[in-house]
This record gives sequence, structure tokens and C-alpha cells, in this order.
Amino acid sequence: MASGKGKTFAALPGENIWFSEYHAASVKMSWRVEVLAVEQSPYQRMVVMHNPDFGVFFTLDGFLQLTSRDEFIYHDMIVHPALAVNPDIRRVLIVGGGDGGTARETLRYPQLETVDMVEIDEMVPRLCRTYLPQTAAALDDPRLRLTIGDGLAFVRAAADASYDLILVDSTDPVGPGEGLFTREFYGECYRALTEKGILVNQHESAFYAGDLREMRRAHEKIAAVFPIAEVYGFNLPCYSSGYWYFGFASKQLHPLRDQQAARWEAFGLATRYYNSRLHAAAFALPSYVRARLDGSAEAECGAAEE
Ligand code: SAM
Repeated sequence: MASGKGKTFAALPGENIWFSEYHAASVKMSWRVEVLAVEQSPYQRMVVMHNPDFGVFFTLDGFLQLTSRDEFIYHDMIVHPALAVNPDIRRVLIVGGGDGGTARETLRYPQLETVDMVEIDEMVPRLCRTYLPQTAAALDDPRLRLTIGDGLAFVRAAADASYDLILVDSTDPVGPGEGLFTREFYGECYRALTEKGILVNQHESAFYAGDLREMRRAHEKIAAVFPIAEVYGFNLPCYSSGYWYFGFASKQLHPLRDQQAARWEAFGLATRYYNSRLHAAAFALPSYVRARLDGSAEAECGAAEE
């Protein structure tokens, strides 16, 4: 998150430090933390920390990924809206998501036949199993087929119409996640999805200029591939601007016209953020976001090049 603002910072396990993440060139958010683990993989550097208010959280190359306190919001919102639009989803692919939170929410649906997950970096699930069992426990569910590899290569190799839902729970469009924000990737997802298939992906945020730029880029590419390409938002306290977006793209199904609230409620899932009334609210974008997304208004906050 907070595109372009990840900064390598000195941290050693056992140290008590202030960790800061830049949300814009002149804005940063700081947490008082105890450092729990630091590891460098061939792809990225992971630092696991604990903060009294946000709980356990981790960064990849200085970008905060999730916190144990508010991850339920992100994981509710990446999974449940799509299942409320197509409750018949049987075959799911998760791209990224090495912490296991997206897998945990997905695996709550009893009708699923296949849940594949492709994560590029074995370090992320390994450290999450130790420090974030609330999300990582799902990674050991026997119904999950976890592959360590690149998401773009995995989707390229997938058969036509082999998934009903693809959830892209990736890092930002810098580093290993870059290929997951390309036109080629979205095109391969289109091909790998069934006629009623849905793609949900990271859409960054609309407030700061750097995040907005990535949001627009992703949206334009997806809208060029999928006839239905909508964006929905949710409050996420730990992320840049406190508000984050996912994209919802589909060949046929519209997130509002095709919402099947009664069928979703029949699953009987207790969720702490998502519910059927919030579904419509999430897709009702604030006017400034709609205008920035279609390019008719520029960011007046953080508009300076970051
Ligand atoms: N919720 C988080 C956020 O938005 O900040 C994302 C969580 S999850 C930890 C992101 C995962 O995507 C990371 O574990 C990373 O290793 C993985 N990833 C990045 N690029 C990838 C790629 N090309 N293929 C598969 N997984 C990838």
C-alpha cells in the first residue's frame, strides 16, 4: 500500500522502535512497535512487529500488509461481496494472500470444490504460521491447494473457464506484485474465468496522488478487458488514508443488480464487517472518488508528484 513509499528501515528482533510508513511525500503514520522477526527472501524483506493497539502486523519492503486488529475488514471485503453476487461459486483461485486471511474467509463456504492459491514467496506463509495464526491457520486446511510460484505464470497456465472467482490479494504494483497489475494478467484472468466468473483485485486508494494514480491505472486496464468493472470501498484504519478499494470485474454479473442477499444470508456466516446492507453502500462511491476515477477531477490533496 501507499505506493512508492515503502522504505527500508533498520530493525532487529527484540528492539522497541517507532516504525513509520509514508502515505505521501509529506505524510507518514507511525506505530510504536516491538520487532518480532526480520527476514530477507529473494523477493522482499519481511518485518513482523507488535503494536499495543493494532496487534501483530508485518511489512514487505517497508509496506504495511495487514494488522491482526483490522485484517477482518480487508478479508471480509475481498471475499464476501463476490459470493453474495454469485453464491454458486465452486472453483476459486487466490493470487498472493500469503498470510492466509483471504483463504480463511473463502473456506467458510461449504459448496466449494477447488480452492487454489498461488503465492510467490514461501517466507510469507512460513512467518505468518508462527506470528499470525489467526490468518495463517487456514493455510493448513486440506481443502486448500497452495502453490509457491508467480501468479501471472500460474494464470497463464490455467485452462480456459477453470475458475468462478479469482481473488488477487497482492502487494502493490512495485516489486514482485508488478505483473499482477498488467493488462496481460487481467486478460489471462478473463480467459480463465467462467461466463459468470468474477475477478476481485487490489485497487489502492483515491486520496493521495500516488495511490490514486495506481487506482486509475488498474481500473482503466480492467475496464478495457471486462464489460463490467466496478470499484468498491471500505474503511481500513491501518492503510493509507484509512480507506481502501477493491475492483469487481465480471463478464456478466453486476455487483448491485445481481446481488443475492437472501441466498448469501442463507449461508449463515457471522461476519464482523460485511453484511447485505453494507454491500450496496460499498459500491456507492463518494462523488470525489467517482470523479477522480473517471479522470474528471484531479486530486487536490497530495497532488504534488511523490
Ligand atoms: N493485504 C495486503 C496488502 O494489500 O497490503 C496483501 C497481503 S498478501 C501478504 C500479498 C502477497 O502477495 C505477499 O505475500 C506477496 O509475496 C504476494 N505476491 C506478490 N507478488 C506476487 C506474484 N507475482 N505472484 C504471487 N504472489 C505474489
